Amino acid sequence: MKQRRDTYNVNVGGVIIGSTEPIRIQSMTNTPTEDITATANQIKALYDSGSELVRVTVNNEKSAENIIKIKDILYKSNYILPIIGDFHYNAHTLLSSYPETAAILDKYRLNPGNVGSSNKFNDNFAEIIEIAIKNDKPIRIGGNWGSLSKQYLEDTIINGKKSDNYESLIKEGLIQSVLKSAKYAEKLGLRSDKIILSCKVSSVSQLVDVYSDIATKCKYPLHLGLTEAGMGDNAVVSSVAALSILLNKGIGDTIRVSLTPDKMGVRTKEVEVCKDILSSLNLKQFKPKVISCPGCGRTSSNYFIELTKDINNHIDNNMIEWKTKYIGVENINIAVMGCIVNGPGESRHANIGISLPGTNESPSAPVFIDGKKVTTLKGDRIRDDFIRLIEEYISKKYKKVS
Ligand code: SF4
Repeated sequence: MKQRRDTYNVNVGGVIIGSTEPIRIQSMTNTPTEDITATANQIKALYDSGSELVRVTVNNEKSAENIIKIKDILYKSNYILPIIGDFHYNAHTLLSSYPETAAILDKYRLNPGNVGSSNKFNDNFAEIIEIAIKNDKPIRIGGNWGSLSKQYLEDTIINGKKSDNYESLIKEGLIQSVLKSAKYAEKLGLRSDKIILSCKVSSVSQLVDVYSDIATKCKYPLHLGLTEAGMGDNAVVSSVAALSILLNKGIGDTIRVSLTPDKMGVRTKEVEVCKDILSSLNLKQFKPKVISCPGCGRTSSNYFIELTKDINNHIDNNMIEWKTKYIGVENINIAVMGCIVNGPGESRHANIGISLPGTNESPSAPVFIDGKKVTTLKGDRIRDDFIRLIEEYISKKYKKVS
């Protein structure tokens, strides 16, 4: 993995986004912000699932007004997290009409494609930036190829370079629109460490191209996300592919996965996918990792499947308690392997691992702890004994929370 690209550090309501900090997970509510209780409940659920920042739609007067009440509910129930306002078309009007909302939001998200038509863009944008400066707030200039400036499209594609490669023009337009907006914000007096950029597209390879390019052109932290990724496994795989390639290149400071849900409701699945991406790239582990083999013709029974499930369930059932007792317990790696081919080797690489007997192997299961074989388990107590060994390992190896 390449070293993180050097960026400014941007403070978003106490959570720092930038290259010296861990990659932050964020998500978005899908409730109408007019509904205070439903929105506050979604924010809480997203935060509980691991979202460090949450964005909410601010699209009309009522939603702008409600931000204060939503923040109040969160504060009173001890949910202290940054809330980002997602604005399109009318940010300048809402932020100036609701100064308390402007003061209480932790970041404003703007899309340069719809801040205002070409003759209104400068004035509207300046009005927003003035409010951000007054309230000492950061902004995200978030371009999206679905809402690229009409002016740009007209100038470059319709009137001018129609014969040029359409995709390159769109990519270039997206990058230029966010960079130009960022420079304009700085010219208006917003500090460079108050700006985060994103350039979202819905194609994996194009997202990689766009971010690889913009990463060389500025020092602003980058918010990564494959927009409109779709639904189901395909959407998850596309998001994982896109974000992993970029993160592995050291590009990206905060991530969001956008999935079309199969029904309306809180989108904690998006947060889980973000966590899995960071965990599989070894950027951050959220809970013990279970390394298990897929099984094959050498597997003597489905016992390895049952044991893997049991270990995963044991982790899920105990993680909250372990976290209150042991520092760093989420970093443990546990191997559950199906036969002698890769079983002992993989188990030695893990903190604790078991190599179950494959077909024609003697019916015993060696257990390895920190690279050394410590015991051999047999019979119908393998599951319970292995879980006991995991518990003992955790209580001996991890420092107790004082
Ligand atoms: S460890 Fe053994 S059982 Fe598991 S996939 Fe490899 S060869 Fe098959």
